[in-house]
Amino acid sequence: MSHHRAWAQIDLDAIAHNIAVIRRRAGARVRIMLVVKADAYGHGAVAIAHHAVRCGVGALGVGTSAEALELRESGLRAPILVLGTIVDEEAAPALRHGVEIGIHSSDRVQMLAKVAKQLGCVARVHLNIDTGMGRLGVLPERAISLLEEIREATNLDLRGVMTHVSSAKGALDPESSRQVQAFEAVLAAARRRDLLQGWIHVANSAAIFTGLAAGYDTVRPGISAYGILPGGLPGAQELKTAMTLCSQIVFLKDVPAGANVGYDSTWTASAGTRIATLPLGYNDGVSWRLGNRGEVLVRGQRAPVIGRVSMDYTTIDVGHIRDVKVGDQAVLFGSAGTQDLSLEEVARKAGTIPYEITCSVGKRVPRVYVGGEDMVLPGQSPSIGARPPLDAALKPHTPSR
Ligand SMILES: *Cc1c(COP(=O)(O)O)cnc(C)c1O
Repeated sequence: MSHHRAWAQIDLDAIAHNIAVIRRRAGARVRIMLVVKADAYGHGAVAIAHHAVRCGVGALGVGTSAEALELRESGLRAPILVLGTIVDEEAAPALRHGVEIGIHSSDRVQMLAKVAKQLGCVARVHLNIDTGMGRLGVLPERAISLLEEIREATNLDLRGVMTHVSSAKGALDPESSRQVQAFEAVLAAARRRDLLQGWIHVANSAAIFTGLAAGYDTVRPGISAYGILPGGLPGAQELKTAMTLCSQIVFLKDVPAGANVGYDSTWTASAGTRIATLPLGYNDGVSWRLGNRGEVLVRGQRAPVIGRVSMDYTTIDVGHIRDVKVGDQAVLFGSAGTQDLSLEEVARKAGTIPYEITCSVGKRVPRVYVGGEDMVLPGQSPSIGARPPLDAALKPHTPSR
């Protein structure tokens, strides 16, 4: 039990397990660039990144330079790539801290070369090729001339070439193979001109678990490291969901038939029942769309969400659950002993994807880390029972149960 009113419990052993599963799938020689954008999908980027590096992860991927700098300030020395792009103002601080940057245009090449020159440093860049995502990235037909421009630019060092697959089904979607072929064609042309250097990376979680784009030296998993593989892809059962969103029950109330609950009175008791109030709402990661749709685990049983979810509170019907007490734990997703309420199910009920659910666990919900003490470093025999000291970065988050 935690002393918090609501908390997200994050199991570092589950993350270590998932990274080991990813390593087995991707191949032992393949570098894992763990994607920790959006505060590690809501799991807490600093703690996750330090833990992941101890698990043998070789690089981190982030969404913005501020996210990269947060990791640097926490003492993380591993390579960090801003996967997408940066605006001009982000360049100097990012380069000063050796952050690598994804680029896709002549304009970004020139800007970064200029800033790097002013700072007297080298900008490390990864060329992003748009093979079908249609978002960032240079189109294949422009890629070679951009590689030439990178080679010509002073103070610029090509550290990688990448593309991003748009399908959530990986190799199970024919469009993905088309994307990989387009990427391969660029690589071949670049190789012929001796323009290729650095890491080559394509695969997100769906690609890794379906064997798409295997054979490159680096993979970029995100969601699977957190224990989720949407869409019932092969290997989903091997993963362990790292996050469990919990709260205490803070109030119990017996109401008569006809009682209304919540904003707009969207729920009315058809018979007398017992209502429990949970101290977290849509600001904390309980989707507003779960009103009158979601379920919560209490004492190993499911209790329906009744009425609207509000900003700070959620109400559930516990009339059918015996011996409920104020202070009992309620689980909004994740595992509660033998019972599971999967993120996939909650996401489906909320009409969204699991990614959005963990990302929207709010700032005021403390992350409580469990596990992670008994680490075995890569290449070390498990029998040694290595027990490196907890990272300084983990200390403020010492488990409280
Ligand atoms: C978010 C992201 C990933 C990770 O994707 P998952 O589906 O979470 O594995 C990989 N590459 C890029 C460019 C991304 O933006």
